Amino acid sequence: MAEARIVEPPRFCSRCGSPVVVVDASYCKECGAPLAATVWLNRAIGWRPWTALLLSILPGLGQWYKGQRLRGVIWFLVVLAFYGLQPVGLMLHIICAGNAALSGALKDDSPQRWSQLRRTATRSGARPT
Ligand SMILES: [Zn+2]
Repeated sequence: MAEARIVEPPRFCSRCGSPVVVVDASYCKECGAPLAATVWLNRAIGWRPWTALLLSILPGLGQWYKGQRLRGVIWFLVVLAFYGLQPVGLMLHIICAGNAALSGALKDDSPQRWSQLRRTATRSGARPT
């Protein structure tokens, strides 16, 4: 777990695909596109967040798809158990889908890096987002 923070997975510009060599770069040096969005997604994962989200139409299937089978079954049973108790069931279903799509997809330190990027962007005189 500790090594994951040290080893930075390679980043690529989402617009032109150029590799980003500067660890804390906020903008692509090739095309100038903001790189904030690429920081959020952990590229080391072997599944697609959107697929996990779509599969979550059936609660737990998104987790199952990610290989978290036990978690998927638990989500399915929990959401099913609460579906008769609206709006709790629907809320749980949404949380379940969000969890399937985002859990593990974002880096552990995303919020921290995000505010760090915003600070850097503001300092260099870029337009605020
Ligand atoms: Zn670029």
